[in-house]
Amino acid sequence: MSKKLNARDLETYRGLLTQLRRELSGDITSLEADAFSTDGDRLSVDNPADIGSESFAQEFSLELLQRDEATLTEIDEALGRVVAGTYGLCEGCAEPIPKVRLNAVPHARFCVECQRKTERRR
Ligand SMILES: [Zn+2]
Repeated sequence: MSKKLNARDLETYRGLLTQLRRELSGDITSLEADAFSTDGDRLSVDNPADIGSESFAQEFSLELLQRDEATLTEIDEALGRVVAGTYGLCEGCAEPIPKVRLNAVPHARFCVECQRKTERRR
């Protein structure tokens, strides 16, 4: 069984989450610029193939954007849990989530086992 996080650990993860949040926000801003660009000059009517690849790139950006926004929400909720004092506890079994997992996914809300269970249920 893993140990509960102490105040220093919490501070570390809060820093990680804040940093991750900042990185993702930066990504989203540049992706939004891509996805919603109305740069018509780059689309050549003479060459329809260009239009095809452009809209593919836009779709790809939008997909990334949606995933990033979901992650941002997760991060915000994790930061809320740091404040509430429930950060690092699995929402499935209420056991502390191992640090190795939090290091990889600081906004994880489940331990690996419970995560697997929720994914199987979907
Ligand atoms: Zn669990």
